[in-house]
Amino acid sequence: MPKTEQQLRDDIIRVGRMICDKGWIAANDGNITIRLGPNLILATPTGVCKGMMCMEDLILCDLDGNKIAGERERTSEMGMHLTIYKLRPDVMAILHAHPPTATGFATAGRALNLGLLPEIVIRLGSVPLCDYGLPGTPALTEGMLPYIPKYEALLMANHGVVSYGSDVFDAYFKMETVEHFARIALVAELLGGPKVLPRAEIQKLFDSRKRYSVDSNNGFDQGAPLAAEDMPESNEKFEITREQLLSIIDEALKVRGVY
Ligand SMILES: [Zn+2]
Repeated sequence: MPKTEQQLRDDIIRVGRMICDKGWIAANDGNITIRLGPNLILATPTGVCKGMMCMEDLILCDLDGNKIAGERERTSEMGMHLTIYKLRPDVMAILHAHPPTATGFATAGRALNLGLLPEIVIRLGSVPLCDYGLPGTPALTEGMLPYIPKYEALLMANHGVVSYGSDVFDAYFKMETVEHFARIALVAELLGGPKVLPRAEIQKLFDSRKRYSVDSNNGFDQGAPLAAEDMPESNEKFEITREQLLSIIDEALKVRGVY
């Protein structure tokens, strides 16, 4: 039986508390929406801590972003949610937050695009990095447009993460998976660098999706996930300019206290 609007409001309040407890937001960051009908979206408002919301704080909007009901104001990031709902008729809920490790990758200009872990390859394929766009403007979503149809979660450069799915908990678990992946990737870097899976093994994981009832349809799209064959050999020759070489030597001497 489909959930009532009251139950769905309750789901948003619950996920708001969970993302707050996880440390994925600070102050009034983040937003959560659910598609209630063909032209009706239930959304968290602006200016409220998502860990401290009550049912009455939530607002209703149409698919053009006009507020239909609710006392509070809509978030400036509503345009991003509406774009995703329009491009993905299968998406019923969207979560946006700033989980620190994944957002660290997004801030360093790094996608989570290595074929490292079976769970990630099966569930998400990879997590692309979308170009930066000023929050609250259409530019925020421009960089996401090429990736929304194929991917389930996106890194937003210098900003955060957005994930979406069949319900608000599906979106929540995808973001949890992204943040977990980011932490593992970071630890692998600290321990000498990740060892990426070969292309044939990654393909086997894509092929196994049906067994796990995953209907994500991305594969080796848009250059990701990178396989072992795509990684540079450690003994590979590379070229740098004289100026770059001098600055590396300079830095090395400084680090060693030579001058
Ligand atoms: Zn944000």
